[in-house]
Amino acid sequence: MTNSDDEALRVLRDVFGHREFRGHQAAAVRQVAGGGDAIVLMPTGGGKSLCYQIPALLRPGVGVVISPLIALMEDQVAAVRELGVRAAYLNSSLAASAQQEVERQFLAGELDLLYVAPERLLTPETLALLARQRIALFAIDEAHCVSQWGHDFRPDYLELHALARRWPDVPRVALTATATQATRREIVERLALGEARQFVASFDRPNIQYRIEPKASPNQQLVSFIRAEHPGQSGIVYALARATTERLAQHLCDSGIEAVAYHAGMEAAARRAVQRRFLREDGLTVVATIAFGMGIDKPDVRFVAHVDLPRSVEGYYQETGRAGRDGEPATAWMAYGLADVVRQRHFIAESAGDLEYRRAAGARLDAMLALCETAQCRRANLLAYFGESMGPCGNCDTCLNPPQTWDGTVVAQKLLSTVVRLDRERRQRYGAGHVIDILRGRRTERVARHGHDTLSTWGLGADLDDAEWRAVVRQLLASGDLEVEAGGHGVLAATDRAWEVMRGQRPVAFRRELAGPTAKRPRRAAGAGPGGGVGGGVPPAELSAEQLAVFESLRQWRAAAARERSVPAYVIFHDATLRALAQERPADLAALAGVPGIGQAKLAAHGQALLELLADHGAESAAAAGVPGTAAPENPC
Ligand code: ADP
Ligand code: ZN
Repeated sequence: MTNSDDEALRVLRDVFGHREFRGHQAAAVRQVAGGGDAIVLMPTGGGKSLCYQIPALLRPGVGVVISPLIALMEDQVAAVRELGVRAAYLNSSLAASAQQEVERQFLAGELDLLYVAPERLLTPETLALLARQRIALFAIDEAHCVSQWGHDFRPDYLELHALARRWPDVPRVALTATATQATRREIVERLALGEARQFVASFDRPNIQYRIEPKASPNQQLVSFIRAEHPGQSGIVYALARATTERLAQHLCDSGIEAVAYHAGMEAAARRAVQRRFLREDGLTVVATIAFGMGIDKPDVRFVAHVDLPRSVEGYYQETGRAGRDGEPATAWMAYGLADVVRQRHFIAESAGDLEYRRAAGARLDAMLALCETAQCRRANLLAYFGESMGPCGNCDTCLNPPQTWDGTVVAQKLLSTVVRLDRERRQRYGAGHVIDILRGRRTERVARHGHDTLSTWGLGADLDDAEWRAVVRQLLASGDLEVEAGGHGVLAATDRAWEVMRGQRPVAFRRELAGPTAKRPRRAAGAGPGGGVGGGVPPAELSAEQLAVFESLRQWRAAAARERSVPAYVIFHDATLRALAQERPADLAALAGVPGIGQAKLAAHGQALLELLADHGAESAAAAGVPGTAAPENPC
């Protein structure tokens, strides 16, 4: 270990209150602190910020952070200021006088970090300002914004390569959570980072538990899920349609869960208000379309739920990735049904894109279906999509409750041959509902009208109920034996592949649908794997009832402290710190300083208040007092 490694560790402990570096952090810090360029690719929650914050503190001069998210700069700066780091930002939201004050501080050497929006950085005025002070480093956050193919493309990012020419001796570090090889290449090329060392972490998010269950009554399922596992916690629910987000938010409110809707059809001011509330409050659920996206870097989102099927695995990974950034346990939950598949296929067929586009969209959807229908580990399936391989994870529904499979060859043959017979003998194609009616021998009006009770498969499937048949259809869609006809309304057709099943050349195994929600079991250690995964190392132990009471009091204290300082609650302390406080109950300042997440500045600011709260609680629980203030408000909305 070199001297500068010692220094880095000291800053990590004193300023940030963390005990050890995680994964690639130490190496990346060493590279940048030593004056070299770096590209840091870590998943959300991987701990990218330290990779530029610590070098900025170690090097002489000001660290300039380029961040595309003006709406978040204020919170980003507030968070590091709470650590005692001298930080400020420059963007178009600042009044002229505030801007002058920031410039003065910058020139007077009173700043460690200056956050700047890219369009602001590249103005002649800002470039001239920067030229008058020593720059410690340039950090280019959300570096995937240089990618013209990505959905976060920002033309201003393309101009950032100019920094290399103007400041050839200042190290640059580009950071992103977007994994694909193509994006990585674009970052290297467009930001002139050919010489940079790359630090690439595993994209696994071990603290997120992935679960996908069959959709029966999604509103009810969602309410039960939140009530049972995440009451009073922050979460995001993704739905496809704007109207659904509004209806569902209302339904959650009516069920006593504090929720608001968010979609692109809302006024900009209303959208900003929702975003701000979500970031600042502790325990709000936002029901949103995918418009609620980049920049939701709130660390304590405890669940992300999908009530509609995402269009692709990339989208699913990105959306679910907004959960559990702080490394604490979080859940990615989805309810998914046959209607989702039909709807998505319909969208693709009706889309304005050309054949090439529709084929690509179809392939992306197929990968998503395969994830939904797999009987293997969800996480392994997800990571395989991004080119990483791993064994069963122990923290997804299929690992925790391995689905039983059954030999569905005969059942598949019955269904496929019904579809084929209708098609060939009658030149008619139908949706799943009617095909199931035929198989179950239901004499509906339509069956009678078309004489479908004379088909040879009529009534052959009475042994399965409707839900079971729909699961069969879904799985045959996922395996590519069935397809939904382009443009039709869920009209089914058998593919060429299906003949292998009908001729008995390929056996079919179906997963058995589990009744009701999957029971949760303890999670595996959420630790940094060889690739440097996310998470705090040790899985958090469940709190005892008494510890939970302390934790709740701490949360209330934190909410008040956050309001007083006008910052988000997580800026005061993360949940992991509150949890450790509740478990360890430190009794003096020295013990308090040993708790993860409590650096020197926070110790000075909050140490006394915490000790008093913990002491009061000790006295109270000795007097066997009840849990204060944990009752939920009657109607929170
Ligand atoms: P990213 O920007 O990669 O999404 P952050 O930099 O916001 O991630 O860090 C995610 C969380 O991990 C934060 O809560 C941060 O405090 C915590 N963290 C980062 N590095 C460490 C570490 N070495 N030890 C403990 N916690 C850490
Ligand atoms: Zn698994």
